[in-house]
Amino acid sequence: MDFKNLSNEEAVFEKTKQSFVVPELRENAEILQGKIQPQLIQGQDLKGILHVHTTYSDGLHSLREMCEHTRSLGYAYIGITDHSQSAFYANGLKPDRVLAQMEEIEKLNAELAPFRIFKGIESDILNDGSLDYDDALLEQFDFVIASVHSNLRMNIEKATERVVRAIEHPCTTILGHPTGRLLLSREGYPLDWDAVFEACAKHKVSIELNAHPRRLDIYWTLIPRALAHGIRISINPDAHSKDGILHTRYGVMVARKGGLTAAGCLNAEVGIFGN
Ligand SMILES: [Zn+2]
Ligand SMILES: [Zn+2]
Repeated sequence: MDFKNLSNEEAVFEKTKQSFVVPELRENAEILQGKIQPQLIQGQDLKGILHVHTTYSDGLHSLREMCEHTRSLGYAYIGITDHSQSAFYANGLKPDRVLAQMEEIEKLNAELAPFRIFKGIESDILNDGSLDYDDALLEQFDFVIASVHSNLRMNIEKATERVVRAIEHPCTTILGHPTGRLLLSREGYPLDWDAVFEACAKHKVSIELNAHPRRLDIYWTLIPRALAHGIRISINPDAHSKDGILHTRYGVMVARKGGLTAAGCLNAEVGIFGN
C-alpha cells in the first residue's frame, strides 16, 4: 500500500478501510476494532471549576480574584475549597474563618450573579477516616472534597479503610486526588479499587481527576472502571492561583485517554449541588 501522498491521519485510516480512531484511544482494543467510539470530553464541555484555593488558606490570589478570573474565562460557576483546620501547614480554616468565608461568598454571589460561587472545603481525611469538622459545620457547605494529606504511608488495608470511611460520610461529595501520588517524587498509597469504587457508587461520591500536572490523580487507566460503576469524574485544577485554573487542560487530556465523555464528568454539568 502506498501511503506517500497521504497528508493526514484520517486519510491513512480511510486508505486502510478502518474508521478513524482519535489518538488518545489507540491503546484500546475494543475501540480499534470499531466496536465503540465514545464522544470524548473537550475543554469547552467544562461548565465550571471546582477545587480552588484562595488566600484564606494557601492560595496566591484572593477569593474575589479567583471568582472574577474564573468568570472572565467563561465558566458558569466556581467551587471554592480551601484547606480544612488540620492542614495547619497550609493555613487551614478554623470554623470561625469558614463562616467568615461563607459570608463573603454570599456577598460575592449577589454581586457576580448569574455566575455562581459554591461554598466548599477540601477537608482533610483524618487518620481514622473521619472528616475535619463536626457535622453541623460540614452540612453548611454546598459540597465537600475529602482528601488525604497526612500519614500517607499506609498499607492497602489501612488506606482503603480510611478512604472508604471518608466516602461513607454523608457530606462527602468528591474524593480528592485519590492516591496522593506526586509524579516523579511520591508513589502514593495503594488502594483496593473495587472497594473504593463500590463505596463511591453506593454513596454517590464523584472521583477527582486532579489536573495538576504533578498529580494527574486518579490514574487514567482507572477511569473506565470508575465509569463502569456509574461514578462521575470531576476534572479539577486544584488551583492555588489564577493561572492554576488552566491546569484543567491537562486533566481533559488525561480524561480523554480514559474514555471520559461529558456525561461522565461532574463539572460538565451546569446545575450541580442542587442549584
Ligand atoms: Zn489536596
Ligand atoms: Zn487542593
